[in-house]
Amino acid sequence: MTNRDQPPEKATREQLRERQWQKLQELFRVLPGRNRFYTEKWGKAGVTPSDIKSLSDLRKLPFTLKSELVRSQEEEPPFGTNATFPLEAYSHVHQTSGTTGTPLRVVDTLESWEWWGRCWGHVLRGAGVTAQDRVFLAFSFGPFIGFWAAVEGVRQLGAMMIPGGGWDSLQRLDMMRALRATAICLTPTYALRLAEVAREHKFDLQSVPVRSLIHAGEPGANVERTKARIESAWGAKCFDHAGASEVGAHSFECEFQPNGIHVIESEFIVEVIDPQTGEELQPGQIGELVITNLGRPGFPVIRYRTGDLVRLNLSPCACGRTFARFDGGLLGRSDDMVTIRGVNVYPTAIENVIRQFSAVDEFQVTMKTRHQMSELEVQIEVGFGNDAEDVRAHVERAIHRALSLRPRVIVAQPGALERFEMKARRFQKLDESR
Ligand SMILES: [Zn+2]
Repeated sequence: MTNRDQPPEKATREQLRERQWQKLQELFRVLPGRNRFYTEKWGKAGVTPSDIKSLSDLRKLPFTLKSELVRSQEEEPPFGTNATFPLEAYSHVHQTSGTTGTPLRVVDTLESWEWWGRCWGHVLRGAGVTAQDRVFLAFSFGPFIGFWAAVEGVRQLGAMMIPGGGWDSLQRLDMMRALRATAICLTPTYALRLAEVAREHKFDLQSVPVRSLIHAGEPGANVERTKARIESAWGAKCFDHAGASEVGAHSFECEFQPNGIHVIESEFIVEVIDPQTGEELQPGQIGELVITNLGRPGFPVIRYRTGDLVRLNLSPCACGRTFARFDGGLLGRSDDMVTIRGVNVYPTAIENVIRQFSAVDEFQVTMKTRHQMSELEVQIEVGFGNDAEDVRAHVERAIHRALSLRPRVIVAQPGALERFEMKARRFQKLDESR
């Protein structure tokens, strides 16, 4: 069952926990003394791996923050103290997209790159991709890890990989059609953007024989209305996936599309905590995702605070996989969540309302706080041929109905709002009290 070539997607929960425990112990044999970041961190906290006698003891170890990894790299450039092995052991380097703060560099060995590919195997198979498929990667192939790991996943699966870097949107559409792409990896935002470009250029999207769109980089593919919009534009199924440069490719959506993503629990240990108190939450409660990755000893993260909001679901899935799920995928960033009159409002909840309106091409949300009062401001771009004021009033009413709060909805000029290929930033918080 624990054969590494056959990832145990359907192992019992007990078998999964046993596998996690075995891999955690392997990691604990490697890190002390070699990985300075964790040796020093655990030393300061007064704990050592030998204090961890079971999986539930893991919580004795301190959380890891992105800012700590960044600081370590600032103090000891370029890779800091979390690179466990001598530099010559590493084969791949990437860095976070840097949309928020200083980029963090991450390094992989050939072995951990193979692990990335294995994780992507879960993602691709979940989306129904096989060796017969032609997978188009609509991605710029810069230093951001993005879909680089998908390349390794596609290689391991034996499918054909079509790199779509360095091209504009129309060239990418032409290439997808010419090479008869059957699966496409891209962000949900970019899937909608390509549909917009296709419409502008009278390019028939249905002429691309794609069956599966595999999304990453941001929430959206599990926002019901966004998903429906992408699926109808492309005539293909839309699958969500979540991962991060510093963590790995950790979650994927299965062919049953259960309104959520499975966590690859054979390679990751997940916890959900209250972002304020750090206390562990029960399944069903929304909290911050904390991850320990088990396959990257050369640059590990142990109890890493991702800043992503999730809701854990342990009930069985129709696909038969025993991996836990995150209902609704990643629900947004914990710093983007605001509490308005006792109601937790998070970005994907707002997105889900706005995406009901096909007349809205793009949007931006600002949560403004003044004197402890929060106000929601939404800018929308309305597509050509629609009555903008009418759409605006409808969006305002729909948000009020769904979230019980009154937003200020403003119509922006066509093309005024930023378009994104990766890592859309449609939400911002402004504290005007200061
Ligand atoms: Zn499933």
